[in-house]
Amino acid sequence: MKQYNMAKIQKRLRKELDEDRYRHTLGVMYTSAALAMCHGEDLQKAQIAGLLHDCAKCIPNEKKIRMCQKYEIPVSDIELQAPYLLHSKLGAYLAEKKYGVEEREILSAITWHTTGKPQMTLLEKIVFMADYIEPMRWKAANLEEIRRMAFQDLDQAVYLTLRDTLHYLENGSGQVDSMTHEAYQYYHEQCKDRQPEG
Ligand code: FE
Ligand code: FE
Repeated sequence: MKQYNMAKIQKRLRKELDEDRYRHTLGVMYTSAALAMCHGEDLQKAQIAGLLHDCAKCIPNEKKIRMCQKYEIPVSDIELQAPYLLHSKLGAYLAEKKYGVEEREILSAITWHTTGKPQMTLLEKIVFMADYIEPMRWKAANLEEIRRMAFQDLDQAVYLTLRDTLHYLENGSGQVDSMTHEAYQYYHEQCKDRQPEG
């Protein structure tokens, strides 16, 4: 696979992102690497995907919508109502066009990092989990358990994350993308036999 200049990408991201987002980004990069070591994924792939997963996050929402229209990226009703959701798809687009990422797998991991989806690849699961558990995170419920689980049973960790995310969104004003429901159902089915509560 292509060799990426990690330092150069970091330098660029530092300008695109605010300070908190940049620190989160580094956390996701390192956590993706750790999960890749644990579960046998390519380290560079995991790090690049982690590094770029939020590269579109700090673009103002209006501009996100305009950019999607310009680049012919489809925007759903739910994404129009909650434009922050677009940072995943738009991020994958920019990762390819602006940062020169060639691997479909990396672009796909960026695309699905927010909602998740059924039958994720190992790399998709790694970035999805790293985004949730990286060391800067502190607000989510059951973080300690989910952090441990991510290094023991990745599918179970994905399941618990989707469950808690849905719970959190449904109790607030957050918009829930239908893909998150589909992902939840899929991983619930996958992990049914592993949960004491059934
Ligand atoms: Fe994100
Ligand atoms: Fe993130």
